[in-house]
Amino acid sequence: MKIVRFGRGSWGILEGESLQITRGPAGPFTGRKVPLSEAKLLPPAKPTKIVGVGRNYRKHAEEMGEEVPQEPGLFLKAPNALAAPGSLIPYPPFTKSLHYEGELAVVIGRRMRRVPEDKALSYVLGYTCALDLTARDVQKTDLQWIRAKSADNFCPLGPWVETDLDPSDLRLRTFVNGEVRQDARTSDMIFPVPFLLSYVSAFMTLEPGDVLLTGTPEGVGELHPGDEVAVEIEGIGRLSVRIG
Ligand code: MG
Repeated sequence: MKIVRFGRGSWGILEGESLQITRGPAGPFTGRKVPLSEAKLLPPAKPTKIVGVGRNYRKHAEEMGEEVPQEPGLFLKAPNALAAPGSLIPYPPFTKSLHYEGELAVVIGRRMRRVPEDKALSYVLGYTCALDLTARDVQKTDLQWIRAKSADNFCPLGPWVETDLDPSDLRLRTFVNGEVRQDARTSDMIFPVPFLLSYVSAFMTLEPGDVLLTGTPEGVGELHPGDEVAVEIEGIGRLSVRIG
């Protein structure tokens, strides 16, 4: 099932080329529907927080000149960072090095607190595509990553949440102006999704709608005004935004 948020905050299920409108995410049907082509998509989650994982793919840690971590390196993005599929994202004035990071995003379905790894996936609503936009220059100079990771529009998310998916081995590709820049499989993660969810929920309660960004593979790079950047994940779909 593909869960869509659209318009002024309506929820729906994608069926063929139309959206069956629901009360809440995966809630009961209202009986109304709209064509997908007429719906303005929104980020398909309303998180209280977005938890990011750095260096979760071995080759990305290597390209950043960093050690392969023994424990997940976490950071937060606030909900202000969310951006809708198809957004035009103004190039932020405080950076000269805006980077794309294509990532698999996990959306929480049920409140999650101290959940063991073997139960973790049952708390997941589903999976979507994310761009963990990063101001690489200020990431290196600021004490914390608030500006580098959590500026407005730094977390494009979508196009929808796919609920019927095994996250353990999916092809993930990032394109800039149609050219492949990242091409990896989620099976290359150092810390797999159930481990990450259990690790985070051990100290921080995850609420329904919260989002976990699972890290980016190798091939990160700069974006420039006018670029179109897209993340495509097997079994989910394609998230695309433009830099203004
Ligand atoms: Mg990242």
